[in-house]
Amino acid sequence: MNDASCRHVTLARGSAAAISFCPECNALAIHMGAVTLRLPPAGAEALWATLGEALHALPVHVDARARGPVGHA
Ligand SMILES: [Zn+2]
Repeated sequence: MNDASCRHVTLARGSAAAISFCPECNALAIHMGAVTLRLPPAGAEALWATLGEALHALPVHVDARARGPVGHA
């Protein structure tokens, strides 16, 4: 993966991240501000699954905090 020779094809652009793909590297690049995460497509799929799992589990914890004592950190 040599950034200078990479051919970035933009696949999607959102408010949190932009995703490009380099066919030569077979790598997806997730651009988030100053940070770029490079992953093979299978790695991006695994990340997608884990992110989905985390967001699915999140409401339980948000509700628990809201029901907690006032001022509890
Ligand atoms: Zn490349």
